[in-house]
Amino acid sequence: MRRRPVADLNSSPPTGAAPGLVLEARGLTRHFRVGGLRGHTLHAVDDFDMGIAEREIVALVGESGSGKSTVARLLAMVFRPTAGEILFRGRPVSSLRRRRDLLDYRGQVPMVFQDPFSSLNPAHTIGYALLRGLKLHRPELDRHQRWAEAERVLEAAGLVPPAFVMSKYPYELSGGQRQRVGFAQALSYRPKLVLADEPVSMLDVSIRIGLLNVMARLRDEEKVSLLYITHDIASARYVSDRVLVMYAGHLVEQGPTDDVLHNPVHPYTRLLLSAVPDPRAEMSVTSADVGEPPRVIDPGEGCRFRWRCPLAMDVCATVTPRLGPAAPHHEAACHVTVPGAVPGTSGAGR
Ligand code: SF4
Repeated sequence: MRRRPVADLNSSPPTGAAPGLVLEARGLTRHFRVGGLRGHTLHAVDDFDMGIAEREIVALVGESGSGKSTVARLLAMVFRPTAGEILFRGRPVSSLRRRRDLLDYRGQVPMVFQDPFSSLNPAHTIGYALLRGLKLHRPELDRHQRWAEAERVLEAAGLVPPAFVMSKYPYELSGGQRQRVGFAQALSYRPKLVLADEPVSMLDVSIRIGLLNVMARLRDEEKVSLLYITHDIASARYVSDRVLVMYAGHLVEQGPTDDVLHNPVHPYTRLLLSAVPDPRAEMSVTSADVGEPPRVIDPGEGCRFRWRCPLAMDVCATVTPRLGPAAPHHEAACHVTVPGAVPGTSGAGR
């Protein structure tokens, strides 16, 4: 009889697995056919590599349409990759097919969505939703243990008193409280990694900081890793250990948060940082603010940022830049700002 993969996923990583990595993506690619049989191909994600270590918060930043939510759905196995591989603690998960196997995986790598209403049934109390999830994902717990665990995760997400919150319906909670329930729900499955897709973008600025602190607490006290997907680079700066920057389906820069945000190398990262509002600055438009939006339908070769890039050269239109070392643990994909990315270029734009 075939062993249940959850036992495999929970066992020690296999020999040769990257040490300390919870999740790895190698060459992850997702294309969509658009426009019928004679149509075109939308390159949502191309050749995406990343790894998330234990107790690490990685921020995946980029503008709308950059492919970051598609990456989250690929990692959550909501979408199947067109190519590439996902490894959970060194074991491939792309081949999981059975409902039970997917359930086990999604319990260990749950998602928290942008709109908490989408994952909460308005007809059920918070307590019912939590206890039902626990029954599904942790069948080893009895009724009393499930109740105690529901209270524990609500407290960990900053929702007190937990018994009072459990009696509430989703519409009786504020947006920030509902989003905390989303994190509590994810935590109740005893995850190794939480995929948080724009979890604070629908909240008032004054409430966001509380949610970011919840994420930091999950890392520090519950030993959970997080992939924090956001278009808000300022919040990434606040909470993440590393930052990955995506543009038009490509990973264009990655490194330790302080390094990337204080010494951005890729022109797109510089643009993102220049767009963070500064109340003391005068309104201005940079040269990279203008230009064509990213082309992800049949994009062909070349840098996908070239239509907006103030540093673009001829080679940018014909050769796709690959990630290269910009500093220790810091990589970027640019022919101009990463010396030696293409033979014959000098890194003159740095
Ligand atoms: Fe700009 Fe060329 Fe670098 Fe792309 S590769 S970011 S177009 S300079």
